Amino acid sequence: MTAGMTKPVAATGEDGRHLYTCPLCEAMCGLEIQVKGGKVAAIRGNRDDTWSRGHICPRGATLGALHEDPDRIRRPMIKVDGQWQEVSWDVAFRRCTELLAPVISEHGIGAVTCYTGNPLAHSFSLGRYTGVLLGMSGIPLSYSPGTVDQWPKNLSSHLMYGGWWSFPVPDIERTDLLVVMGANPAASQGSLLAAPDVMGIIDGIRKRGKVIVIDPVRTATAARADEWLPITPGTDAALLLAVAHTLFAENLVDLGNLALHVDGLDRLREVAADWPPERVAAATSIDSERIRELARELAATPRAVVYGRIGTCNQEFGSLASWLVDVVNILSGHFDVEGGAMFPRAAAWSVTVQPIPGLEDGAPEFGRFRTRVRGAKEVLGQVPVSCLAEEIATPGEGQIRALITVAGNPVLSTPAGHKLDEVLPTLDAMIAVDLWLNETTRHADVILPGSSPLEQPHHDDLILNFAINSIANYSAPVFARPDRDAPQEWEILIRLTGLCTGVPAEDVDVAAIDDGFFDYMAYTKGLDGAEIRNLYKLGGPERILDFTLRTGPFGDQYGKYPDGVTLEKLKANPNGINFGPMIPQVPDVLGTSDGKIRLAPQYLLDDLPRLAARLERPADELVLVSRRHLRSNNSWLHNVGPLMKGKDRCTLLMHDDDAKRREVQTGDLVTVTSSGGHIDVPVEVTDAIMPGVVSMPHGWGHGKEGTRMAVANGSPGVNTNVLSPPTFIDEPSGNGALNGIPVTVNPVRT
Ligand code: SF4
Repeated sequence: MTAGMTKPVAATGEDGRHLYTCPLCEAMCGLEIQVKGGKVAAIRGNRDDTWSRGHICPRGATLGALHEDPDRIRRPMIKVDGQWQEVSWDVAFRRCTELLAPVISEHGIGAVTCYTGNPLAHSFSLGRYTGVLLGMSGIPLSYSPGTVDQWPKNLSSHLMYGGWWSFPVPDIERTDLLVVMGANPAASQGSLLAAPDVMGIIDGIRKRGKVIVIDPVRTATAARADEWLPITPGTDAALLLAVAHTLFAENLVDLGNLALHVDGLDRLREVAADWPPERVAAATSIDSERIRELARELAATPRAVVYGRIGTCNQEFGSLASWLVDVVNILSGHFDVEGGAMFPRAAAWSVTVQPIPGLEDGAPEFGRFRTRVRGAKEVLGQVPVSCLAEEIATPGEGQIRALITVAGNPVLSTPAGHKLDEVLPTLDAMIAVDLWLNETTRHADVILPGSSPLEQPHHDDLILNFAINSIANYSAPVFARPDRDAPQEWEILIRLTGLCTGVPAEDVDVAAIDDGFFDYMAYTKGLDGAEIRNLYKLGGPERILDFTLRTGPFGDQYGKYPDGVTLEKLKANPNGINFGPMIPQVPDVLGTSDGKIRLAPQYLLDDLPRLAARLERPADELVLVSRRHLRSNNSWLHNVGPLMKGKDRCTLLMHDDDAKRREVQTGDLVTVTSSGGHIDVPVEVTDAIMPGVVSMPHGWGHGKEGTRMAVANGSPGVNTNVLSPPTFIDEPSGNGALNGIPVTVNPVRT
């Protein structure tokens, strides 16, 4: 365990040196923020931070600009005759009641749904209290960007390990061979992989070993790797099956200590026998001998690991690919061992990762219900987010008539978001908990703003479950909240929860619901919440944080281990506490009924014929993949001036050969057409992408009337999600397939 040196830190609201963990991405960098005259004067990486040791990226350095953004909503707003009015919190909550109560009394709570956005994963308040809204409001079905992101990984982890958030994470600090598939940590800074300075660590691997990137695009990560293996989008699962085939065929399978803890090895061997490298080489665009060599390299390197991320999830075969990444790590002996894929141990556990009621035993039965319009099946409690527009638009029993959005902009960030844009004005009620008047919240009737990140305490929640070290790091707010009587985000969510159960929002007993939630969390640990609550003067997320730390793996267990961690001890260590790297945890970490890893879940094997049919399909002339940028984070950082400097980033990357064939050059406007729609976008010709593949960033398409995002609207870009057909999904998980969309590209002739 390490705790950093402590230099003086200014109190909340005072000028001076503040320490704060950046809440913008999974790297969780410790920042040193200098405040002068009540404003952020400078931000740099905190070299004493026990986790990030001074690392920072351009995004973290702009937290001050985010805080001071004049467009940020600071007071609640209601829409009156189409015009926004700033109002008191009492008026805003009363308006929520006026809007939502009639919908519920007339149509039932089933007419209400909720969309929760990506910032929840990083927010101190929202991250811990969205569970209250989703779990206690009675709203039967909610939507999230999870089904355009990591749902395949949730699914494969649930089926293999009996834990839907039990994600094995590559132990990149101790590996000597890293194979990266569909991930670009140079831009993302790590995804489902929380590590400080991922690219610095990757450089370290290159010095002692090797880094291979398998991706249709020569990303910034691939450019820094030892080898870039271009792969046809959507064929990762086929490649991994061929690697598994080779491991079996050449007697390279070595389960090591896992041998006693896996089930289904023989079935997997039978399955892999049908997938020799020669069968997949043409479809994947990777030579059969290179595939064999990859298997041999993995088997021959004592510390090696395959890391698959968004490109392996957001595609037609996301569940198969997510499963097979783990399968290859297990077969090659690189699972639950140092330098391989390991299960993290969060110092403070998260309620998000608790088993889903009714599916605790890893039972692979999905489709407990289906959507009304499309008949899409439920998987792990969610349906594809692309169903939301049709569920609002289609009349009849069960029609969605009211929507609560929490820190989300689905109009820009979900497949066919333009259809959502069309139907949101038809809702009877829309309430947004948000900091910006964006392309989605412009349709709301009420906007309830939380505080700026720097006005809130911070300690990550879900992200700690993907971290390569077990860490805890509490940040006190840098600035005092200007209106101390304003409810905090967690209190807003509790009021909306109560409103959904029939209590006027303004009359909700916030403390009672908060206590009830706390008692539930205590119950999941076999403790009496009412008894423990007596130890606390205040409720809210700090009480939950103390509880989850104390009952976590390094906690004091409420006095049983006096040296264990508590929130009080953590606050005394403002540089954080690092409890060390991951350790082997199988079988203790497994939630399957027999305590074994299921290597060959039937639910996933049933999807193999679809993959086989994909290999027989004639190649598409052009397919679209997604990309991201270091100076962006989905749509919501596009209003930060310093991050928007430089050349236009919303361009279509296209290989020279494809560009020549269409007689287009960099800067020319082209029309990209899919079965979902069409957009016009400038082209950027490059050799850093495979022929036959084009790439667009997502989260663009600003500039819509009624938004208040001056910077973003100055460089609006176009919304690539127009091209995402709502029904183009990974069948087993329902996850949107944003990579591998067949498109045509033609020059715009003016
Ligand atoms: S890498 Fe992530 S956590 Fe670190 S400063 Fe950048 S945005 Fe913040």
